[in-house]
Amino acid sequence: MPGSKNKLSTKELHECRAFLMHRRAVLVGDVTNMNTTMSKTVSAASGDLSTVPYHMADVGTDNFEHEFTLGLIENEEEELREVDAALDRMDKGKFGLCEACKKPIPKSRLKIIPYTRLCIECKKGEENIPSQ
Ligand SMILES: [Zn+2]
Repeated sequence: MPGSKNKLSTKELHECRAFLMHRRAVLVGDVTNMNTTMSKTVSAASGDLSTVPYHMADVGTDNFEHEFTLGLIENEEEELREVDAALDRMDKGKFGLCEACKKPIPKSRLKIIPYTRLCIECKKGEENIPSQ
């Protein structure tokens, strides 16, 4: 399809949604709480710890998270708001469009920050507002 270079495919959209849902779970504490609750339950339920043949499976989510936690938003509450807003835009079919100029945000940028609202040009403008 010509001209759709910057448009996200359904698969990519699904990947972004999966990331946003996961990120949201991490931010609201679902993931960490689940892990600690699980280990507590295991110790409490087993009377004799030395005979428990239980091994917590290695949870391989760390790398996935680290790839996306590269700075940018330091405040978790703010990030959660952005994640929710991005999911909302996805539901409305507006995901991946710059809120300022309404142009598609390049995929390369969405893959780093899926919940970004602005394209790079507009983001630059926002951070560098000329004094009048
Ligand atoms: Zn823009």
